[in-house]
Amino acid sequence: MNVADSERAATGLRESGYDLCTSEADADVVLLNTCSVREKAEKKVFTRVGEIRSAESAGRKVLVGVMGCVAQLEGETIFERAPVDLVIGTRATDRIPSLLNRAHEGERKIIDLAERDLNDSWDVSPVERHSPHVAFIPIIEGCNKFCSFCIVPYSRGRERSRPATEIVNEVRRLQNLGYKEVHLIGQNVNSYRPRIEDGLQGFQGATPFSRLLRAIAATGMPRIKFTTSFPRDFHPDIVAALEENANLCDWVHLPVQSGSDRILKLMRRGHTRADYLSRIDRIKNSKRRLALTSDVIVGFPGETEKDFRDTLTLVEECSYDGLYIFKYSRRKGTPAANFPDTISEQEKTARFSELERVQKQAQENIYRSYVGRTLSVLVERQSSRSKSDVTGHSTCHKVVNFPGHHGLEGEILDVLITQTKSNSLYGTKVDRFGVA
Ligand code: SAM
Repeated sequence: MNVADSERAATGLRESGYDLCTSEADADVVLLNTCSVREKAEKKVFTRVGEIRSAESAGRKVLVGVMGCVAQLEGETIFERAPVDLVIGTRATDRIPSLLNRAHEGERKIIDLAERDLNDSWDVSPVERHSPHVAFIPIIEGCNKFCSFCIVPYSRGRERSRPATEIVNEVRRLQNLGYKEVHLIGQNVNSYRPRIEDGLQGFQGATPFSRLLRAIAATGMPRIKFTTSFPRDFHPDIVAALEENANLCDWVHLPVQSGSDRILKLMRRGHTRADYLSRIDRIKNSKRRLALTSDVIVGFPGETEKDFRDTLTLVEECSYDGLYIFKYSRRKGTPAANFPDTISEQEKTARFSELERVQKQAQENIYRSYVGRTLSVLVERQSSRSKSDVTGHSTCHKVVNFPGHHGLEGEILDVLITQTKSNSLYGTKVDRFGVA
């Protein structure tokens, strides 16, 4: 989501006459886009402001702005904590050029934490996209779930869904520009619920999200991925949509956070272990082999050894293709911040390592099962490890490396998997008959 916001900020700035430079030493304006999901990310921004200021010389004064979630949450207090000129909230991205105009006119300590303008555009210029082959498309922003540990409803506000026609038109434009993959993004993509359902008529499906998936699949965009899904809103019809449309990729990211019903309740997730496992059953029993990934928090306040064991057994049972493990981070303003944080840092680290070990074992088996199979890979770039290899993602969202040369970027190729690494696969390009 932050990458997508930076792309939008860059689009507006370029339209207003700014150029983007590759080195901050050449910049007159530095905007730091920030994340506040965990404390560590939040702290980094203040260190970075200090570094930028200390690199300023007598004749070179830089305008420094903080944008994103830290800006929205910390507001005015940022001016007390760091020598910053602008504080730009999560809904003020489109107003950055006018805020900078005010700064150039001499105004200092400019702050904008207001709501979005109604006619805000979500357009991103292709030159500002992080890749010429894969595009992020926000379909919903904000969050209404209020999980007790999570800062997002406060930093990004309530859920707002983009009109379906606008999304589908954006996908068509990207297809005309040669994009091979769109990645629909949002805190909870499957909570998608536009105010009017323009553009979804004629598509069968139980929820606006599964109908949106079908409408986007009908554009013929070669590959469509989506993250993140929220378990409570994960309707089985999403799997039906994946089964009906080969261009909807075979990967689902469904964060569980904990395997203990007691902790899930304290987290206010609105689902039990059994509810979650019933969603997983539908995914695992699909006609298509679907890759499954998840997020888990260890060391949530009050998590006992037994609760943690429940998480371990759930992770074993789900046999995830990938797992993002987080140590609980206390976020001021969330309900859980008032729960006594009973788990020591040492204990959190020990649980993190144990869960990582269990996941690694399961993942190794899953990755090994790909050896001998052919995956469709979108080549994204030269590998940073080897000049003679290229790297990309499979439809099931695995990183795949294989021998290849510069110029293959943007091609979708069949790759026969021959080896596994801990977080990637290695193979050889084959033709459609499977010949290397
Ligand atoms: N909306 C999705 C959901 O709730 O299922 C996840 C979005 S969140 C930005 C990404 C991940 O960060 C979460 O799934 C969670 O595992 C982790 N996370 C969020 N708040 C956290 C906290 N206070 N401490 C540690 N990890 C956290």
